[in-house]
Amino acid sequence: MKKGKLLYEGKAKRIYRTDDPAVLWAEFKDSATAFDGDKKGTIARKGELNAAMSAHLFAVLERAGVPTHFLEQVTERAHLIRNLTMIPVEIVMRNVAAGSLVKRYALERGLILKKPILEYYLKDDSLHDPMLNRNHVIILGYCTEPKLRRIEAAAVKINRVLRNYFRKRGFALVDFKLEFGTRGSRLYLGDEISPDTCRIWEAKTGEVFDKDRFRFDLGEVESHYEEVVRRLTA
Ligand code: UDP
Repeated sequence: MKKGKLLYEGKAKRIYRTDDPAVLWAEFKDSATAFDGDKKGTIARKGELNAAMSAHLFAVLERAGVPTHFLEQVTERAHLIRNLTMIPVEIVMRNVAAGSLVKRYALERGLILKKPILEYYLKDDSLHDPMLNRNHVIILGYCTEPKLRRIEAAAVKINRVLRNYFRKRGFALVDFKLEFGTRGSRLYLGDEISPDTCRIWEAKTGEVFDKDRFRFDLGEVESHYEEVVRRLTA
């Protein structure tokens, strides 16, 4: 499969066409952004680390019966993926209070939630990704109700699978973001699953292993990403 024309460049990936219109080439970049794009930087080797972790976890999810866009890893930092029609809603799943949840509701960081909380955000940088409720998603037409129900069921299952997978490897999966797309009538998980899109803490100590190291200048970002990939793919 050959890498074709650049279709789209996002904050963390470049998406190219291939000779097959149903297949795209996704290249993971080392550049990192945070706080709505206000903080910009580079995390050494992030592209290949996120590509490796995403490829591995997409395969874990496929084995658990969750369809994903992932087809094959083609270079250290590139995947072949299904060309989907993306749904412009980011799904955030939370098991433990952190990040914007703590800020918005003045919670104690680290509070274990009685049940996972699912949130919806509009994927629109110019509007700063506003939070949505189910009514916004359906009535404003971002996603139909039947499709949203399928997304919610998939997100619950993905959380169950990933949480267990992380726990067995000594990590707590605090929260994470998902993006879905369709091809015909089929729904697929898209985007990536990486320390950029998840909060990952050492289960025993609470040590931070995710993008919060970059957000809050905690140092040793690369080595922590590396350790996550090492333990999750061992
Ligand atoms: N997240 C993401 N992309 C976004 C917003 C959030 O991947 O545009 C992830 C983030 O890394 C965290 C989870 O979703 O794992 C919840 O993020 P939160 O709402 O706490 O926002 P933050 O404070 O991280 O901006």
